Amino acid sequence: MANIIPKNLLEEIRARNDIADVVGGYLQLKHVGSALKALCPFHKEKTPSFHVNPQRQIFHCFGCGEGGDVFKFVMKYENVDFAAAARLLAERCGLRLEYAEGGERGDGTDKPRLYKLHEEVALLYHSFLTEGPQGAPARDYLAQRELDLETAREFLIGYAPERWDTLLLWAAKKKIAPQLLEAAGLVLKSDRAENRSPYYDRFRHRLMFAIRDELGRVVAFSGRVMGAAEQTAKYVNSPETALFRKGRVLYALDKARRSILDARVAILCEGQIDCIRCQRAGFSNVVASQGTALTEEHARLLRRYADSITLVLDADAAGEDAALRAAEVLQAEGLSIRIASLPPGHDPDSLIRQEGPAAFQRVLDQAQSALEFQIGVLRQRDDLASEAGLARATRAVLGTIARTPGAVQREQLLRRAAALLRISEQALRQDLVRQSRPPARAAPAATAPQPRHAVEEVALLEALVQHPELRDLIRQYLAPHHLSDPVCQTLLGLLLEPEAAPGALNVALHGASEECQRLAAQVQMAPQRLRDVEAPPLQAAQDLILVIRRKGLERRRVAAHQELERATGHLRERLRAECNQLTVDIKRLERKWDDDAKLILEL
Ligand code: ATP
Ligand code: MN
Repeated sequence: MANIIPKNLLEEIRARNDIADVVGGYLQLKHVGSALKALCPFHKEKTPSFHVNPQRQIFHCFGCGEGGDVFKFVMKYENVDFAAAARLLAERCGLRLEYAEGGERGDGTDKPRLYKLHEEVALLYHSFLTEGPQGAPARDYLAQRELDLETAREFLIGYAPERWDTLLLWAAKKKIAPQLLEAAGLVLKSDRAENRSPYYDRFRHRLMFAIRDELGRVVAFSGRVMGAAEQTAKYVNSPETALFRKGRVLYALDKARRSILDARVAILCEGQIDCIRCQRAGFSNVVASQGTALTEEHARLLRRYADSITLVLDADAAGEDAALRAAEVLQAEGLSIRIASLPPGHDPDSLIRQEGPAAFQRVLDQAQSALEFQIGVLRQRDDLASEAGLARATRAVLGTIARTPGAVQREQLLRRAAALLRISEQALRQDLVRQSRPPARAAPAATAPQPRHAVEEVALLEALVQHPELRDLIRQYLAPHHLSDPVCQTLLGLLLEPEAAPGALNVALHGASEECQRLAAQVQMAPQRLRDVEAPPLQAAQDLILVIRRKGLERRRVAAHQELERATGHLRERLRAECNQLTVDIKRLERKWDDDAKLILEL
């Protein structure tokens, strides 16, 4: 599609979208000396290394190496292709892209008009809530839910009056065709012939929540009955339209994304009112899934802003199942998950209202890792003391671990799971290998199958990239020849080179093989999710060193044994002694990282 946009138009878009303005719309840019800096949205950091250069109209992050022009920034940030980025930037500066957009015009809908319509209708509903006698019941209901008018303004809450033609009359006055209202999902077509108009309003006598996409554009509505839902559904929502797919919109993400980006953590609850209550109570990184099951698209959307998600769900069995399913979807996108359980009978709204924000904060503080939560649920529902129960639990837990991208994370989860299930790490590891399926984010089927590398060796490389401060420790106890995998050996050698920038893998410069470059990219792209959550990096590195050294010794012992079979006389004596020594060394390396282990490693 990109080549359909004429080049001069692209240049015009570029010229009208100053990179500092565009980036400044997404991130908080600060002048530091002559530089323009921000916290990088593409990796986790505490001090800004993301630079914008207005002279050259480029951005570059010295932390993660991401960089490019204004198109590249929008593509990366919005997670869209070039054509979509060009369209967003064109819209931003009021240019029209005069080229066919695949399918979007085909159904006769015109997105800019639909956006405008939604915005106007949201304001109209809001005015019905705040002004005039017909809004009185809605104002009462709002007060009863302890939501004030200031909140109603901030979240664009409104009221759809108790009529069948509110929007139709309004649209007629504004010369808006009912067909556009229909395309927006705001009116429905009636099949009753006696009706004067074939259309009627979808939302009647409901408290209206305007649903905005992450860019703040109103794309849909959710209407709640005022009072108990007896005759009708508690919530009526917009249908899927050209603007709205419920599987990819998260309520209040437009408000929350700034603080999610800052914290790299999002809190996910279910209801709009819960979300509003949380935000008003100062939990600014809360979004809501609006009662639908979490989709892969939701996960990808969150992944752009967060490394970690705290799920806040009801403490009942349905809530637990929903949490586990949601955790699975989110983990597959490389997000780290924590699960917070509400006290029985509460949702975030009622908890904050009755017990105050501190009570909700405590719930968040007590959130468990997905693994702990899963094992807790399994323990409640199954008898882990029985062999069959333990086998079922192990299978479920190994499924979680196998789905986790990132070898370091898998190693850490494995250790934690073994401790929680009270079984040996080694047994669990063996089962994991047996049960392992290709990870959820496997390469597209079209590409050649990727060679497998030793898990612990890849994990060590990831740890070293993410924590360059481990370099001295690793250099002291491990040399590339201790690894079994030639590609991992090369990469470890590069990372340990004294003159290499810590944590940087500039493989291309060394004319490395294609597989080497691929693994280098994989290692550097590995999500930094559970770090500091499951185990401190130092401990993880020590464990990995031990595993790698132990496996190295085991390989030597196997080789020595084979030689022993063939050898005679003096050589036979020596090999037997070596095998015995290796057996002792391996035994000692199975213990924790202590003076003993260090001693052997120094040999
Ligand atoms: P309230 O506090 O007003 O009762 P809630 O947010 O606590 O609302 P829940 O029943 O917990 O309501 O539902 C959570 C979310 O699920 C709602 O905010 C809404 O987005 C969605 N939802 C609930 N019921 C329905 C329904 N019948 N149809 C569509 N969506 C619904
Ligand atoms: Mn509620």
